[in-house]
Amino acid sequence: MKQTATPESSLSADVPEYETIERRVLVIGAGAAGARAAIELVEQGIDPDDLLVIGKRGHGDAHTTWARGGINGALGTLDPEDDWTVHAADTLNEGHHINDPGKVETVTKRMPGLLRELDEWGMSFSRTPDGDIDQRYFGAQSFRRTAFAGDYTGEAILNTLVSQAQDRSIPYRENVFISRLITDGDRVLGAVGTDLDTGEFVVFDAEVVILAAGGYTSLYRRHSSRDDENTGDGPALAYQAGATLMDMEFVQFHPTGMVGDRYGELWDGRLVTEAVRGEGGQLFNAEGERFMERYSPDQMELDARDVVARAIAKEIAEGRGTEHGGVFLDISHRDRSFIEARLPRMYERFAELGVDMAEEPVEVAPTAHYGMGGVHVDDNGETAIAGLYAIGETMAGVHGANRLGGNSLAETVAYGQVVGEAVADRLQAQVDRPDDGTLSQRAELHLRDLVTLANSDGENDPEALLKMVRSLLWEQTGILRDEAGFEAGLRRIDTIRTQAADLAVGDEQSRSYEFALNLGFALIVADSILRSARERPESRGAHFRTDYPETEAEWQRNILFQRGSIGSPNLSTATPEAPSEAVQKALDAGYELDYHQLE
Ligand SMILES: Cc1cc2nc3c(=O)[nH]c(=O)nc-3n(C[C@H](O)[C@H](O)[C@H](O)COP(=O)(O)OP(=O)(O)OC[C@H]3O[C@@H](n4cnc5c(N)ncnc54)[C@H](O)[C@@H]3O)c2cc1C
Repeated sequence: MKQTATPESSLSADVPEYETIERRVLVIGAGAAGARAAIELVEQGIDPDDLLVIGKRGHGDAHTTWARGGINGALGTLDPEDDWTVHAADTLNEGHHINDPGKVETVTKRMPGLLRELDEWGMSFSRTPDGDIDQRYFGAQSFRRTAFAGDYTGEAILNTLVSQAQDRSIPYRENVFISRLITDGDRVLGAVGTDLDTGEFVVFDAEVVILAAGGYTSLYRRHSSRDDENTGDGPALAYQAGATLMDMEFVQFHPTGMVGDRYGELWDGRLVTEAVRGEGGQLFNAEGERFMERYSPDQMELDARDVVARAIAKEIAEGRGTEHGGVFLDISHRDRSFIEARLPRMYERFAELGVDMAEEPVEVAPTAHYGMGGVHVDDNGETAIAGLYAIGETMAGVHGANRLGGNSLAETVAYGQVVGEAVADRLQAQVDRPDDGTLSQRAELHLRDLVTLANSDGENDPEALLKMVRSLLWEQTGILRDEAGFEAGLRRIDTIRTQAADLAVGDEQSRSYEFALNLGFALIVADSILRSARERPESRGAHFRTDYPETEAEWQRNILFQRGSIGSPNLSTATPEAPSEAVQKALDAGYELDYHQLE
């Protein structure tokens, strides 16, 4: 439906034309999390025509397709001793016990069933010789519980989910960029977006909004994501709407990113999947030393990601790195046929770059990979704003201070299902709310800002300012951090914010328009990371402070970040609940991987 603003609903005459779309549920994001939530809604009896799934890219083109190594679930295919309680215990140990144990339990309990469901839906899992779903080692897990499809697991999952969504006639709209959620202060009313193909504005009128818009790690200069994904849209949209962010300081640096000086700038930071180490890959410094023997003699390369990333960063900083600024990762002791079968995408990628993984090592260094923080939600995935839910990489709580590899894909499908069930219940109980004009009034205020932004003729290039944000986060909240860095980072944010008030932007279909919107989100998220990191005077998991190198028992707390009444952020803390008896028993049993069984 096309409409022009009416005089009553508009505050000025220059409100542009916009289309209004009414749906009971708007799902923002069509990666694994958004797709799984939409499928569950239909499974629970919601009419697909009451839903709309949107993404800022084409259908099937979400960041999930880049996930490589696998998805966790205690199937016990190869290690029958494994079960969900041990999976939960490993997750809490890796999260340094500031995860939300209830959410961890939800994910780990549901995963075996959800893996079997994906299998029934036709996902191309790699198989054991007996035809069961195969499972591989991933770092810091007590048993082989990472199911996989070669090293293209994310692509296989998303293909499966998109095809299931299409079978259920779930409507999808491509290339719409959401720049604002609309609320009445307590409840969500909808969202405002720009169609990037046509430049037209769209106002979504929805009783429920599910934010499944991904994470925030491409806001770091060296990152494993696509540059224009994982730009922090989910947390920033939720924060602007009045929801609370949690644990934003915890950013996981994956130990093995490709090294730009060796493979070209385009490849800098791109992921070399943990599966390479899971399948026996070994790390060497430039002196030929297998240095993990010094840092983690028992678990070696399969220790937790933060431990391995810090070890590599130290080797490089102390002059034992390669001339290109990395270390060597070597799996050439495995047969070529094994590498081709278990790591096909990695093998092909390096072959195209002229490197034969079956003959020689590759060069790697840490890269920003996953934001454990995100939107604070309750057990059903709902935020403090009624009707606004957050799932997948946008939500916080499952991973604590560090994420186990393979657990984020697990979280996407588990919380997709949880939220689908909760929203279906809500819709069955809820009567339509009356339209009192609040949505259009508030949407139009934002539309006027968008009109002012498009074609603005200022001094500063939004893409250049985004790059400045990326550099400052890498330099001031990287693998090793301290108070002076946080203060310097916050000052740099202030400067960029001032420059961002004077942008040179093209029309609504231009890249600079999208960059300008991203910049607004990036400033919110960067500020939340810096302030939360400054608030935590200890080291824990991925948050390593050189000025506070110890973990402090009293800081077994989450940091909450919320908009204050006069616009500036408020920080507070909350203590996670205790795990259930069953999970505590698994924690007490002290399971851990016997690394030497891999040799
Ligand atoms: C290189 C790489 C490898 C990985 N490998 C693994 C692995 O092996 N195992 C594992 O468990 N995890 C892995 N991860 C992490 C995992 O891929 C992600 O956490 C997960 O896919 C996130 O899914 P999601 O559905 O939450 O978000 P995404 O897949 O990022 O989807 C986000 C969706 O939101 C849309 N969107 C975003 N912003 C807006 C906006 N403003 N307006 C409209 N739409 C918007 C996007 O278009 C997209 O549709 C990997 C991550 C990377 C970067």
